[in-house]
Amino acid sequence: PYEGPRAEEIFRKRAQFLSPSLFHFYDCPLNIVDGKMQYLFDEDGRRYLDAFGGIATVCCGHCHPDVVEAIVNQAKRIQHSTVLYLNHAIADFAEALASKMPGDLKVVFFTNSGTEANELALMIARLYTGCNDIISLRNGYHGNAAGTMGVTAQSNWKFNVVQTGVHHALNPDPYRGAFGSDGEKYARDVQEIIEFGTTGRVAGFISEAIQGVGGIVELAPGYLPAAYNIVRKAGGLCIADEVQAGVARTGSHFWGFEGHGVIPDIVTMAKGIGNGIPIGAVVTTPEIAQVLTRRSYFNTFGGNPVSTAGGHAVLKVLEKEKLQENAFVVGSYLKELLNKLKEKHDIIGDVRGKGFLLGVELVTDHEKKTPAKAEISHVMNHMKDLGVLVGKGGFYGNVFRITPPLCFTKEDSDFFIDVMDIALSKL
Ligand code: PMP
Repeated sequence: PYEGPRAEEIFRKRAQFLSPSLFHFYDCPLNIVDGKMQYLFDEDGRRYLDAFGGIATVCCGHCHPDVVEAIVNQAKRIQHSTVLYLNHAIADFAEALASKMPGDLKVVFFTNSGTEANELALMIARLYTGCNDIISLRNGYHGNAAGTMGVTAQSNWKFNVVQTGVHHALNPDPYRGAFGSDGEKYARDVQEIIEFGTTGRVAGFISEAIQGVGGIVELAPGYLPAAYNIVRKAGGLCIADEVQAGVARTGSHFWGFEGHGVIPDIVTMAKGIGNGIPIGAVVTTPEIAQVLTRRSYFNTFGGNPVSTAGGHAVLKVLEKEKLQENAFVVGSYLKELLNKLKEKHDIIGDVRGKGFLLGVELVTDHEKKTPAKAEISHVMNHMKDLGVLVGKGGFYGNVFRITPPLCFTKEDSDFFIDVMDIALSKL
């Protein structure tokens, strides 16, 4: 049993000593003390089914024994050296990661977060092309440092950042967008931005395959191939932000971009690739990677042996336990159940996503798509009381984000649906 500080004490300390900007989803925040696969446990030993996976950060399951063992064994040997010396952990993981990539995407740079990975990717694109202009999608999220906050396109997440050379294109959002599911029509906006907002040449284009923070928005079919074409004609590089959609989560493919039939020039990742340990990565081609030899480039903790040993163990577990297949099979099953729930509850406006990257948008009016903001909080709190944790997001904060660890089962899905059904019925 847990005998540490209780929720009230932690809450008081957090209010006094931690950032005033921290927020929490629940009226009574939980004190989570243990995690095991798809379950979390609070201070009283109460078990919760985790359908949020720490924002898609846990992919193999909380404290997966193989990943923990790899991390602990490495920590006992050497936690940190420097990339100035040789260590097998970083080299082995880079090789394994490159083997999961299509085309000529074979060179890996390690970072400590998704933000850092995207900052590096944007810089590489600018160096390689000699251009400055970057195009990103409205409603996208790419990080919280200067450059990545610039390409992030939601006012909720933007501070007073100077975003020179950034253009935000129409979001190919099938539910709320002006052109429905016609991807090519949205892509024309990318063409227009290049023609009317730049010299005609650009450094690159960055987007998620399915927007995570933005509320699990699947880009309209045909959009990415069309946008990549347009950007490449203008000399730009295409960057795929796989921080949420990557690492087997969408089920049908290992990487989210593969579901759109494109091959990017640069791929970034973080979150799930470490199953909870901080790590990020940028993967690109040998030719593009050369730009970083123009100056010294160094990242103190990027690729440290503990994080890379953990990351490598994650790839092995995904393979061994066939978790991509599980994400496909169980994720499709769960989506089907969510669609049935949509028929029963009028407040559900849209069900979308792939594999274990699913979204349920609540609206009070189907015609006007009025965000059901207060209602979603009620449902979330009620679901927590019944033992299920789910995320929320989207620009209006009215979309359930269902991103469980990839070991989530059909039984878990049934339980999840029962609980969501009860909570929606009690509204
Ligand atoms: N890209 C995407 C798609 C993300 O969802 C996030 C985090 N929510 C980031 C980048 C930034 O990652 P980090 O928080 O590790 O910096």
